[in-house]
Amino acid sequence: MERYSRQILVDKFGKKGQELLKKKSALVVGIGGTGGLISQLLVRAGLGTVYINDYDYVSISNIHRQLLYDENDIGKKKVEVAAKKLAEMNSETRVIPLEGHLTSNVLEDYVKRVDIVMDGTDNFETRFLLNDVCVKHGKPWIYSGVLATYGNVMPIIPKKTACLRCLMRDLPEKYETTNTRGILNSIPSAIASMAVSLAFRILLGENVESAIYYYDGWELRIEKIPLKRQEDCPACSLGRYDFL
Ligand SMILES: [Zn+2]
Repeated sequence: MERYSRQILVDKFGKKGQELLKKKSALVVGIGGTGGLISQLLVRAGLGTVYINDYDYVSISNIHRQLLYDENDIGKKKVEVAAKKLAEMNSETRVIPLEGHLTSNVLEDYVKRVDIVMDGTDNFETRFLLNDVCVKHGKPWIYSGVLATYGNVMPIIPKKTACLRCLMRDLPEKYETTNTRGILNSIPSAIASMAVSLAFRILLGENVESAIYYYDGWELRIEKIPLKRQEDCPACSLGRYDFL
């Protein structure tokens, strides 16, 4: 417990919170800038099990913001590098690498096993699939998105808070990504920290509000925008999983 002593001292956490965390598991889908830091924070905090998934290889353009990787890792598989480094950070947490694109069936299988799903992806196709799988299985997940100088975080507790399709009915036809608009390296770190704070609250059994958080990392401003569940939401109200 010496390892977690500074975390246990936090009154919202305590020894009870720490012991609870040890029994919990998470799946992090995408371990780039945001997902890589989410994985680190969860592993260092002492979750029991952290599954990490990515299909990508480390490239030179990742290094400025993806804190899990350094120059020696260029060309290597992200999950392999990440699994090794995360294991060195905390040998008490089981780190399980899942390589490649997860098909719906495989994703469902892993989502069923974990307590929370963390979004480290950079595309809405995967997020809409994550939303369907998590709503279907009643699993909390946290949407995280970053672009240029800002980001968003949204905790989704099926049937309790608005889900992604309450917010966005359909997959956007066109949207910007960090490949087109870029990203400052201070943004994924901030968004990952916000997502992990929400994950702690959910894993420790605290209520979270139905809201999306907008972070402006240039002006330094956080806005909390309350969201209502939609009665005609195809996913969380009507139980139609169009992306599965
Ligand atoms: Zn919904």
